[in-house]
Amino acid sequence: GYASSGKKVTLIPGDGIGPEISAAVQKIFTAASVPIEWEAVDVTPVRGPDGRFGIPQAAIDSVNTNKIGLKGPLMTPVGKGHRSLNLALRKEFNLYANVRPCRSLEGYKTLYDNVDVVTIRENTEGEYSGIEHEIIDGVVQSIKLITEEASKRVAEYAFQYAKNNNRKKVTVVHKANIMRMSDGLFLRCVRDMAQKFPEIQFEERYLDTVCLNMVQNPAKYDVLVMPNLYGDILSDMCAGLVGGLGLTPSGNMGLNGALFESVHGTAPDIAGKDLANPTALLLSAVMMLRHMELNSHADKIERAAFETIKEGKYLTGDLGGRAKCSEFTNEICAKL
Ligand code: NAD
Repeated sequence: GYASSGKKVTLIPGDGIGPEISAAVQKIFTAASVPIEWEAVDVTPVRGPDGRFGIPQAAIDSVNTNKIGLKGPLMTPVGKGHRSLNLALRKEFNLYANVRPCRSLEGYKTLYDNVDVVTIRENTEGEYSGIEHEIIDGVVQSIKLITEEASKRVAEYAFQYAKNNNRKKVTVVHKANIMRMSDGLFLRCVRDMAQKFPEIQFEERYLDTVCLNMVQNPAKYDVLVMPNLYGDILSDMCAGLVGGLGLTPSGNMGLNGALFESVHGTAPDIAGKDLANPTALLLSAVMMLRHMELNSHADKIERAAFETIKEGKYLTGDLGGRAKCSEFTNEICAKL
């Protein structure tokens, strides 16, 4: 069959609803004859030689070899000194940019129907560097780390993304009026990069202004690039404009490969009941196909999914319907 001739992609099905929605995506990919071969790996932490729990070597090797992966949600164990697996994956693969397209879906009514923005978030430093300490009782310090290297890298990715995806404009989101040195450096790096992409419009906006304008008229924005913390918050806000995390895909770009994942969690309340909506993971997989330059397959699958949602006959519970995950999936397959 076609599958054996395709490029290998690592699949991390994940926990909770992860296996169900991953199976749905695999089924849809088969129906669309996508020329890739899945390599499913387990990332359940194992105890390493140093006694610490970590991602199994086989999973790390798989991503490092294939350089591309799709990941379902992972349960974050509370307490017990476990590191978040998502964080471990981010570190292991140097996932430096998080990309989240947010687009209004026809057939799923929200407050806005003209949203089409992409947030690109620096994903390795800023306020999330993890450098915190207590100076004296009652006084703590947290370091916001900004480097030229990481800022340039995410800036370049943002402009290249805009160019590759026929977007018109990149907005850098910052607070360099207050954080003069740190955001100042980030801003300068993006500004410098803009010069290398004269075909893409460029603008600089304060974070507060972007929040205000985004909820008043999201059509003002196209691609947005920003430091870690601002991106964390603004990307969720944008997801809210188009119907929440259940529909939002994302991609994590690394130095040595890319990992695509849905934004939502493991949904333990509906896991194993065939009730989950696989759209976010499917759209993440569609992003992955575009990243692999399998654009016609991406377009075809995206159209079938959007049409199924627009028709509204087979919607899952989170979108106000009564269909099972498998029924929604079968309808997309039928369209393909
Ligand atoms: P959640 O996203 O799992 O669930 C929130 C609500 O949204 C639930 O009611 C759930 O049923 C619903 N929901 C989420 N995804 C859905 C889908 N695809 N279809 C239909 N309904 C959906 O958030 P939570 O309950 O806060 O977290 C549960 C677990 O997931 C935690 O262990 C958390 O750490 C983990 N988590 C993982 C990731 C990730 O791996 N990227 C992200 C967020 C949370």
